[in-house]
Formats: sequence, structure tokens, C-alpha cells
Amino acid sequence: MSRTLKAVRGTRDLLPPETALWNRIEATARSVFARYNFGEIRTPIFEDTGLFARSVGEETDIVSKEMYTWEDRARAQSEKTQSLTLRPENTAGVVRAYIEHQLGETGQLQKLYYIGPQFRRERPQKGRYRQFSQIGAEVIGPPSAGSESPLRDAEVLEMLATLLDELGITGWTLELNSVGSAADRARYNETLRAALVPVVGQMCVDCQRRAITNPLRVLDCKVPADQPIIDKLPVIADSLDQASVAHFAAVTAALEAAGIPYTRNNRLVRGLDYYTRTTFEFTHGGLGAQNALLGGGRYDGLSEAIGGPRAPGIGFAMGEDRLVLTLQAQESAAPQVVVDAFIAPLGEEMNAAALALARELRRQGLRIELGDGSFRLKKSFEAADKTARRIVILGEDELQSGILTVKTFATGMQSKVSRAELAAYLSTTASE
Ligand code: AMP
Repeated sequence: MSRTLKAVRGTRDLLPPETALWNRIEATARSVFARYNFGEIRTPIFEDTGLFARSVGEETDIVSKEMYTWEDRARAQSEKTQSLTLRPENTAGVVRAYIEHQLGETGQLQKLYYIGPQFRRERPQKGRYRQFSQIGAEVIGPPSAGSESPLRDAEVLEMLATLLDELGITGWTLELNSVGSAADRARYNETLRAALVPVVGQMCVDCQRRAITNPLRVLDCKVPADQPIIDKLPVIADSLDQASVAHFAAVTAALEAAGIPYTRNNRLVRGLDYYTRTTFEFTHGGLGAQNALLGGGRYDGLSEAIGGPRAPGIGFAMGEDRLVLTLQAQESAAPQVVVDAFIAPLGEEMNAAALALARELRRQGLRIELGDGSFRLKKSFEAADKTARRIVILGEDELQSGILTVKTFATGMQSKVSRAELAAYLSTTASE
């Protein structure tokens, strides 16, 4: 016997009724993005490996150990072998597309959003998968279009607060920080490197490596024993230059004016190399260890790092899987989707007429389940009772007279309804 195949570790099937929640989240996101004048971008699921190495950064966990990368062999002499990677995040792809299509030439800010799968070879656990879906957005453009303005940061954060509110997610926390300009970060890196020398011997092996390769990343460490040491390290706020301090102050002032609560988290430097100035995360207590609902920040040098023109920007990515988990925990039981009516043909010879009736009603916007005339009536009633608010019986007499028998389960009421009035009748709720 052959081995039964299962979905690959870290991937999952999404089934109804849960997919209804996914669709609701995506519809809400699209509606909020539209009101802020964002347009959708869809980039390929795989890209040249070099794109991620140069944007996310060689030294990050994502690039150094989590990417799904393969050599794509040349199929013709005119083709070259190319290293390709399933996208671990979408900002790099969006910025690549911005450069490739010369979107900066318009002189306008580009406001782009995406919804789609991302891939990282992480250790799977609740809220962490190897294929997961992100909803994200980017505001990017030439400096002359105002892309560096702190107002853009505040507007993105205010939009996120609106989106979470409209999704019905309560109890989130916005954590905010500034990692300064590239020069500020370089200065802070040196300060941190020096401060780590006397203490790093007592830290985890990852931190010992990071202290040499990329000291900033020590601040992301989650190992409990390292925390008291990290808490005593110098903070980046003290390494920011005047312009970065003023930028951050303008972001927080605008948030305060809009009534968006936030807390400053000095350790929030985020895992990716491309961040400058504002960095943020929205967290939720209900998520456990993987508590970040979304993360993002400003990336003023990213376009240039991958060979494009100067194009400052700010963006975020939210984990759709984690939004679903949060909403499922909040809504005690997901409401079962109930169809408006179940059509029960009496005998197989009524099946064709039942399909025609179902078509008529569905075209009028009703949600209809179609039974089968080979079922006994008792079986149709049982099936209907599980899925539908009402059952419509269609036999030879009903077809001839055009008067149908409808039973409403909630009230037990049985009525005769003419075919012409059936759609209107089925649209009323059971108690009407
Ligand atoms: P990042 O690109 O790492 O900042 O991730 C942005 C958001 O994507 C996080 O806040 C999570 O909500 C979500 N996310 C990242 N990695 C995963 C994963 N492996 N599984 C599920 N969600 C993830």
C-alpha cells in the first residue's frame, strides 16, 4: 500500500467555515485600503535570491537560514542558471517592482497594498507556519512627493488602528521606536559592540555570534537568561541625530493628535536590515509566544540598496494567520453559515425542475442548497435542518400549480407560497 500523503510540515489546508473568516478579513482590509487611496499590487511568489540578500540582509535569520532557495537550471543555451527563492516577505518585491516600472517617474507617492502567501523555513508552532499569509502596504516615492514626511508614518499607523478596530480586534498595543538614519545606526552599532564586549560571554550562542556580525540583532533575543543583560545595554534613542529625533517627535505628536495610543519600546529594532527611523509592531496578548500581529517601519535607503533611485518609504506586514487566531479566540464560536433554503425534490424525476428553481432563486441573490430526489423526504428534512433556515418541497403538484410548500425550522410554521413570491418570502428572516 502506498504511503498516505499529507500537507507538508508547517503548511495547512484552510477549510470552510474558517475560510469565511479569512474572506471577511481580506474584504475589510481592501475596504480600509481603498478609503486611504491605496491600490493593489501583486508581485510574483518567487524572485531572484539576490533581491532578498540585498534588501532583507545576508545576516538576518530570514536570509541566512529560513529561505526556500533552489537553483533553476538553464533549459536553453540562451538561459542562465539562476538562484531563485520563494518570497519570505513582500516589501523587497514591491520595491523591485517600483524600480522596474519606474513608478517614481510619476512624481507621485505610490500607495500599494498586497495580500498573499510568504514562505519561511521556521520551526512551526502555533501562529508560526512555513507558508503564511501577509496583508501589507507600502507608501513609497521620491522625496519631492513627501515620502519622508513623518505625517506618512503617522497616517499608516492611524490606518492600522482603524483596520484593527474595523476587524473587531480589541486589546492591541502599538509599540513604537526609531532606529534613526543609516549613520545613527552605524554609530549605535559601534556603541553596542563596545558595550557587549564585557558581557557577551554570559549570553546565548546566537548573541555571541550577533555581537560580532550584527550587534543590533542582540536586542531581538528572546532567551530569558539574556534579558537582564540586554536591559542594561545602551539604548538607540541616545544615538539619534537631531533630524531623527525631530522626525520621531513629529510622528508621535500626530499620533497623539489622532488619539492613537502607543508605547515606546527602545528594543524594537526589527529583524530586517532595511529599516530606518520609525519602526513599529502591533502586539496582542491573546497570541502567546508569537504575539506580533504585525510589524513594519520606514526604509529610506532600500530602493538604492537594490539599485534603484532614491525612494524613501514606509510599510508594514500583518500576519493574516494571526489575525484569524485572534478573532477566533475573541468570537467564542464562529457563527455557522446558514443557507436561506434547502430545495427538496420529491423523486428523481423532479431533480431537473429543482435545479431550475435553485437557479432562479440563486440569481435573485439567495443562498440555496439543492437536495436530491433520490432521498426520502425524512432524509431531506434532516439534511435541511442542519444547513438551512427553510425547506422548500418541490413535487409534481407544486410544479403544476406553482404553489410551493415551505417550512421554516425556527418556528415550525408551514406555508404555501406562490413561485412568483418565493424569493421575497425566503428573504424574510424566520421570525418575520
Ligand atoms: P515580519 O516580516 O517578520 O516583520 O513579519 C510581519 C508579520 O507577519 C508578523 O508580525 C507576523 O504576524 C507575521 N509572520 C511572520 N512570520 C510568520 C510565520 N512564520 N507564520 C505566521 N505569521 C508570520
